[in-house]
Amino acid sequence: MTERIDQTKTTERSLPNAELFRPVVAPENKLWLIDAHCHLDDDAYDEKREDVLSALENEGVEAVVNPGCDETSSLKALALANQYDRVFACIGTHPHEASSYTFEWEAHMRTLAGEKKVVAIGEIGLDYHYDFSPRDTQRNVFERQLALAKELDLPVVIHSREACEDTLAILKNFGSSIRALMHSFNEDPKIWEELADFGYSLSLGGMVTFKNARWPKELAKCVAADRLLIETDGPYLAPVPYRGRLNLPWYAARTLETIAELRQESLPMLAKQIRQNTIAFFALPFGASTADSAYCSTKSKIGGASSAIRRGETF
Ligand SMILES: [Zn+2]
Repeated sequence: MTERIDQTKTTERSLPNAELFRPVVAPENKLWLIDAHCHLDDDAYDEKREDVLSALENEGVEAVVNPGCDETSSLKALALANQYDRVFACIGTHPHEASSYTFEWEAHMRTLAGEKKVVAIGEIGLDYHYDFSPRDTQRNVFERQLALAKELDLPVVIHSREACEDTLAILKNFGSSIRALMHSFNEDPKIWEELADFGYSLSLGGMVTFKNARWPKELAKCVAADRLLIETDGPYLAPVPYRGRLNLPWYAARTLETIAELRQESLPMLAKQIRQNTIAFFALPFGASTADSAYCSTKSKIGGASSAIRRGETF
């Protein structure tokens, strides 16, 4: 949740022509996209949520992970997940809502974590761009939820905006004791290098298609293939050429195409690898054959095997 959507541009009534978003080289598997981060519970989807959810399969979307932003949205995400097979929920308090965090909600999260469709704690983190909650509250709530995720053995989805130093300082205290996904990451690849050493993953969204998005494009080129996920971050950040519109899970295809171009890799193979990464990160109940995942070279990419080699580890 990084950009307030222009509500005047979200009123389109019909779903766009999906053919426009299909890649030139179609992967052999019809269900090939997993959107690792889409706020389907957001009010922006109210008028077309049912249409979007019932169109997922036709548009090649195997699953959507719906993060929570506070107690209400986490419960809404879980209700959607319980209603639709292809939706999975994260529960957590976004830095914007940190002021609303209570011990009661924390206790409730502990119970909800046992639900079958809850796959992570998120999205949590720090946002010093908007500062909707005081920074010390944001840090405290971020740390409490990281500790909770560690205790519950659930992965975490992290939002960090203009708070890179503090995010890194807090994450260093947890290191590889947690499994983290840096969502909609827009920082210098040097920062990513430190996080990759903890074994974390990274998801890229529509920003990678924006002309002036320097860091997402750099990251798309250097992240190890086995650490990369894709997302829409809907309703925000729709990829070019749909920037400013309501973002839909299958727009992730456009993001994926751009990443494949930047990496100069085969789109179907990259899609397959990213699908496997997403299934593994969230432990989604889909078949994940790893037989052909070795196609993607991790040489000179940050994270994965290459970082392990740099650190002298055996794996
Ligand atoms: Zn988000």
